[in-house]
Amino acid sequence: MKILVLPGDGIGPEIMDSTMAAINALKRKLGLEIDFVIRDIGFAAHVESGSTLPDNILAEIDDSEGVILGPCDTYGYPDAVDGGINPSMTLRKHFNLYANIRPSRVRDGIPATVKAMDLVIARENTEGFYADRNMVSGSGEFMPTDDTALAVRKITVKGSEQIARAAFELARTRRKKVTAVHKANVLQVSDGLFLDCVKRVGETYSDVELDDVLVDAMAAHLIRRPTDFDVVVTTNMFGDILSDQAAELSGGLGLGGSINAGDDRAMAQAAHGAAPDIAGQNVANPTALMLSVQMLFVWLANHHGDNALSEAAELLEAAVDMVLSDPAKRTPDMGGKAGTNELGAAVAAAIEV
Ligand code: NAD
Repeated sequence: MKILVLPGDGIGPEIMDSTMAAINALKRKLGLEIDFVIRDIGFAAHVESGSTLPDNILAEIDDSEGVILGPCDTYGYPDAVDGGINPSMTLRKHFNLYANIRPSRVRDGIPATVKAMDLVIARENTEGFYADRNMVSGSGEFMPTDDTALAVRKITVKGSEQIARAAFELARTRRKKVTAVHKANVLQVSDGLFLDCVKRVGETYSDVELDDVLVDAMAAHLIRRPTDFDVVVTTNMFGDILSDQAAELSGGLGLGGSINAGDDRAMAQAAHGAAPDIAGQNVANPTALMLSVQMLFVWLANHHGDNALSEAAELLEAAVDMVLSDPAKRTPDMGGKAGTNELGAAVAAAIEV
């Protein structure tokens, strides 16, 4: 098995180094036969090749079973004509990674804003308001006159049904409850279509309870009654915003693991961005990326029927929990003083015990 590793920008290389320390410990401990092939993307690749996503990367991913993508500082990229290509968007679109699965859970001992939370946001990943991926050609954002800007929000039956199915399947492995989050009172046509699709898919999952909540109310419910939610299914931008809120409430963005999954490929990617404000200081929290890798291992284990990867996923999560239970091993965002690489070394050591 081959997995492509793309460290990205900002804190990406630092948190990827820590995560690779944990992965290499898993390889040694379990004898995993996986090649982790590291390639530059982002600014590092732009210097070498003139593109933030060199042409060979897509072909290499075609030849791999999975991807670990570090955060990319896309806001600072040059225009596309000058080689500024958003790797995250391109890979999600190219491989139809329609389900962005983002769990948030309060972990024992880690300071959090809410007392308890254990939910997963299933965010549609390929359409919605995201102008760079919702058109076959051209952009979903445009200016018909120099004083007017328009953004097209695309909602399709296919996109809505496939994320709904992913959410209901996930709920079957958890507490069997799905909450659809939308704004169908205002966006009656587009969110109306999304909600109809979720309800129609829900009829085929009679063992899973379904309710729905307006997105503005959901922002408040997440703070006041977070334990009422199990799996939350929603459209692209609402999912992006609510998942950052949920991650922050449950302990911080540095804990927000996530996976982008399609029918035959998956990509681990932390929910947070490149954090340029703390890059190069050895203070970034690598936990979100480690938990994303743990989710990738679970996905690959299920997809390929590979017990060694299930074991790797369990061992990685247990090691992360064990290390984080010690305040001295936490990074500053979790109230500790440990560096990014110390946390990585501690997780690697916990794996190899
Ligand atoms: P961000 O998520 O990078 O940072 C927001 C805040 O959270 C910052 O204060 C940062 O220091 C902190 N933070 C984030 N991750 C952390 C970690 N692991 N440990 C400790 N603190 C952490 O969001 P932003 O500042 O709005 O965006 C920065 C860049 O990242 C932009 O170019 C944006 O486009 C890009 N971005 C990329 C992704 C991605 O690649 N998946 C996601 C979001 C934003």
